[in-house]
Amino acid sequence: MHIDVLTLFPEMFDGVFGASILGKAREKGIVDLRAVNFRDYANNKHNTVDDYPYGGGGGMVLKPEPMFAAVEDLTPPSGGRPRIVLMCPQGEPFTQPKAQELSRERHLIFVCGHYEGYDERIREHLVTEELSIGDYVLTGGELPAMVVIDAVVRLLPGVLGNEQSAVTDSFSTGLLEYPHYTRPASFRGWDVPEVLTSGHHGRVEAWRREQSLLRTLRRRPDLLEKADLTPKERAWLDSLRGAEHED
Ligand code: SAM
Repeated sequence: MHIDVLTLFPEMFDGVFGASILGKAREKGIVDLRAVNFRDYANNKHNTVDDYPYGGGGGMVLKPEPMFAAVEDLTPPSGGRPRIVLMCPQGEPFTQPKAQELSRERHLIFVCGHYEGYDERIREHLVTEELSIGDYVLTGGELPAMVVIDAVVRLLPGVLGNEQSAVTDSFSTGLLEYPHYTRPASFRGWDVPEVLTSGHHGRVEAWRREQSLLRTLRRRPDLLEKADLTPKERAWLDSLRGAEHED
């Protein structure tokens, strides 16, 4: 996979792209990550990438020319068109299914804004989608792009070892993940649930599924609407909800 990030601050990506799982994925040649300064594509004397908004008002607006020129330069003449993702608080909320979808692409280009906003023609005629990482406003699109890239790259085959498998991660199954414990079996009088030390694989799996359902019911009941549940599991959750209402 190739990932290009268009940013005014490419140095922000040095640490994140070089360390931990992303760094290893890069070393193994699974992903090619590049942070590109779109100021290099400004076609004016002072390398200006922003300008005052038509109609007045505060803040500067990113001009369309450098962004279009950068994306066109990074798009190979042959081969599929890359997905061009604009980081934007007004975009579609980023989720694990979206990370899975993007992880199946060969080439992604992320566009990081800064200042007040973008010229609307970037939104309308250049990008293929807009993503938000949450209902709050950050200074620039760099941190949001890092969040999305990390979530996508860790899903690429060969990036995570078995010991860090993404299969049971929260949201991958539509539910929150079950609780984990490690040694010691007893710590300050708090014991690990007996079932986990039983060595009985079937009981452990059943306990984990039940815990996952319970945790999702208590913390993120909204996820249960879309989760893949058996009729028996739905009935069990309904009975728990009923019991909680009575209390
Ligand atoms: N004036 C814009 C608005 O109200 O929608 C906010 C601009 S923000 C200060 C500057 C840039 O940060 C945005 O263009 C976007 O790239 C990025 N950004 C800020 N918050 C974000 C979020 N929650 N998700 C994704 N990108 C975000």
